[in-house]
Amino acid sequence: MFRGIQYSIYALLLLCVSCAKQQQSSTPDVRCDFSADSAYAYIAQQVAFGARVPGSEEHVACGDWLVKKLATMGAQVQNQYGTMINYAGEWQSLRNIVAYFEGTTQNAILLCAHWDSRPWSDEEEHYDDRFAPVLGANDGASGVGVILEILRQLSILKARGEMVPSVQIVFFDCEDMGTPSHYTGLERPHTWCLGSQYWAQQYIQHSPIKLQYGILLDMVGDPSATFPREYFSMQYANGYLEQLWRSANRLGYGRYFVPSTTYYPITDDHYYVNTIARIPCVDIIDYKTNTETGFAEWWHTQQDDMRNINHQTLQAVGETVLTTICSK
Ligand SMILES: [Zn+2]
Repeated sequence: MFRGIQYSIYALLLLCVSCAKQQQSSTPDVRCDFSADSAYAYIAQQVAFGARVPGSEEHVACGDWLVKKLATMGAQVQNQYGTMINYAGEWQSLRNIVAYFEGTTQNAILLCAHWDSRPWSDEEEHYDDRFAPVLGANDGASGVGVILEILRQLSILKARGEMVPSVQIVFFDCEDMGTPSHYTGLERPHTWCLGSQYWAQQYIQHSPIKLQYGILLDMVGDPSATFPREYFSMQYANGYLEQLWRSANRLGYGRYFVPSTTYYPITDDHYYVNTIARIPCVDIIDYKTNTETGFAEWWHTQQDDMRNINHQTLQAVGETVLTTICSK
């Protein structure tokens, strides 16, 4: 994702308009199982392939593994191949991984994360270090790992005869292909989140499934993660955002799902889900108020590895999301 520009007043005004419209769903009444050990293992398995940079062998191998994994958990899986124009004005191939899990209630909810790794570590201090790819344990693999574990738990609940929602899972490709800091050409708009832009365009034209709302997970494994309310999420999906934050507080995870807001809107996959697919979508994203970038020190560096993945954080995020989507 990319740091947005600061226009807090604009966002606040929009928030006031949108928050009254959103559905206020009930608070959760069940505590769902979620295994942080399992989510951690799914993250480690992705990272073990190496950096998942689009066009690389590692990217193909990890994508194939994700497709198989989703299928073993009872989902119908498809590769969605496409092309978009990248930061340099060239065609960029992409592969979104799309899965549908049929639940037992009328609800159908979107769970999404990006599965690609950034090709450049352009937040590294030294210029020469900026051309190595990011391993993406947090920035990519963490959201995917938590969603895989949520799906595993949903399939267990369904087999037990419990009421579970249908879930559309999308692992977006090419989220992190945005203009690198070393690029000297003309800066283009919308170079981040290419996979979600493509998916959203296809969804609005072709999808027979009506999705009620969406949850995007991005960088959800850091030991000191905090998830302030993000501006685009408040603007487009405030009722669902509040439902998630209430669930988290009831479960005792208020130190992660903090009451503050990000300093600016964040351009992440949910922006295109909200604006192109027109599905209200909340971004749960680790955002810091004490760093220059707004993100953790390892963000877009060589330090984004398994050392920064923490079981307690995964548990907080996974349990909050699972409990919320299973609430009536
Ligand atoms: Zn990133």
